[in-house]
Amino acid sequence: MIPEQTPANLDAEKARLAAARQEAEGQLHSLSKQILQQVGEAESALFEAQAMFLDDPVLVEKAESAIDAGNNAEQAWHEASEFFAAQLEGLTDETLRSRSVDVRDVGRRVIEILLGVESRPMPAGQTILLARDLTPSQTAAMDSSKILAFCTVEGGPTSHTAILANALGIPAVVGMGNTLLDIEDGTVLLVDGTTGLVASNPTPELLAEFDKRIEAESQQRESEVESAAQPALTADGHRVEVVANVGSVDEARKALKYGAEGIGLLRTEFLFINRNKPPDEKTQYSAYRSIFDLMGTRPVVVRTLDVGGDKDVPYYDFGKEANPFLGFRAIRISLDHPDEFKSQLRALLRAGAGHDLRLMFPMIATLDEVRASKKFLHEARSELLSKGVALAEKMQVGIMVEIPSAALLADKFVPEVDFFSIGTNDLTQYTFAAERGNKRVSHLNDSCHPAILRQIERVVQAAHAQGKWVGVCGEMAGDAEAIPILLGLGVDELSMAPARIPSSKRLIREWSLIDARTIAAQALNLESAEDIRRLVKA
Ligand code: PEP
Ligand code: MG
Repeated sequence: MIPEQTPANLDAEKARLAAARQEAEGQLHSLSKQILQQVGEAESALFEAQAMFLDDPVLVEKAESAIDAGNNAEQAWHEASEFFAAQLEGLTDETLRSRSVDVRDVGRRVIEILLGVESRPMPAGQTILLARDLTPSQTAAMDSSKILAFCTVEGGPTSHTAILANALGIPAVVGMGNTLLDIEDGTVLLVDGTTGLVASNPTPELLAEFDKRIEAESQQRESEVESAAQPALTADGHRVEVVANVGSVDEARKALKYGAEGIGLLRTEFLFINRNKPPDEKTQYSAYRSIFDLMGTRPVVVRTLDVGGDKDVPYYDFGKEANPFLGFRAIRISLDHPDEFKSQLRALLRAGAGHDLRLMFPMIATLDEVRASKKFLHEARSELLSKGVALAEKMQVGIMVEIPSAALLADKFVPEVDFFSIGTNDLTQYTFAAERGNKRVSHLNDSCHPAILRQIERVVQAAHAQGKWVGVCGEMAGDAEAIPILLGLGVDELSMAPARIPSSKRLIREWSLIDARTIAAQALNLESAEDIRRLVKA
């Protein structure tokens, strides 16, 4: 498929490659966004990591020298990415070795753009797909209403393709060997993604058994959704509030459908990104108002603006930072822009009138930051009161615990707040000094680690000692293996992606607080996240 013509103009050929790389970058960012919505952060990071390869100096230089040597852009990019992938394959570190698949995936994407072709495995009707191998991006682009399952000759169970299939809910069996390709088109196949069983022309008995299992699983999901509106009480009667993380009115609707008892994290960024100037107070007011109206008297925890880091907005240009995650972001920006900060606070105070508004500040590192934020809140409130405007009355004010300094000094923060919401996504990246979107260090980013649990324990104890409550709103709150431990540590509220609520409530009902406490106490004394996950599974 790769053409063999020698280019007439080497500079034009390099420009053609650069344009294709740029287009690939755009495609990968959109794919990453789509997967973030459909699946989650870890899976979406995979495509951000792929996008990074596009600018890898070794890869780009190698491709450009190949063009200088008379190759066309397709040949040059193919040669360079194959060279890079082969180098990765030769390494002993398993994580780095597995990155070769991503390099080839990016390689293929750029070549397809250069050739103007598209290769999505998309059949006309419903089918089971058999392939030698599938790349993560081919898997991410699958339409699960058409691809009922897939099997591959190559690949391992921890490959990104397998992880993505699992997260997208597509049954898959990978690494089956060459005999897979002997199966003829049109054969009736039975694929069990849980056990890895693939049966061609299954007996009627086996088919019947599978029909029963499929039915049982869908009934379980149905019954989880049916009982999702009920509170989550442990077997011994302890109640945990289960609420949702949302970033739009649509998501708030979905949260209600799945039994959210409120919103535990409203990411207000949704209003600020994808525009060229900050939204004015009126725009903000009506957007917040429609969410409050939807939620009625249920609690809504709203986080003030959390941009910076990896969330760029075009109208704030603070120059390039060497370490954006450690730089000017979130509350640091708000405190430096009092007019914009107060405008958001006024919009929220007004929109929250008659509702259970709970306000929280993101990325708090010091007590001074909380006090300064509360001062602006006080000013915003006084300004509205002096005009006789209706506003949220008994509003709670809290902070996000995302930086170890806040967890370590939790007892000092308690008098300043009504609640804490622990953002375990950021807390984990800052505890392990491992950027959360960087696939190369993702093995360090498991929140179910004793180093994180000990910080959660500390925050809960400090808060409960003075009658305050604690929520967890990072991905960990919806992680089935982490939930029993969070219960046992005394966390009062779990805030998660709406779709995770029904099964999480079911899980909470299956545990007793006593057992959860026992397992949490054991977990605190283990050495690693793997040990903890093994303990919970056992
Ligand atoms: C977190 O850091 O855990 C969190 C919930 O905030 P975000 O994921 O929006 O950074
Ligand atoms: Mg965060």
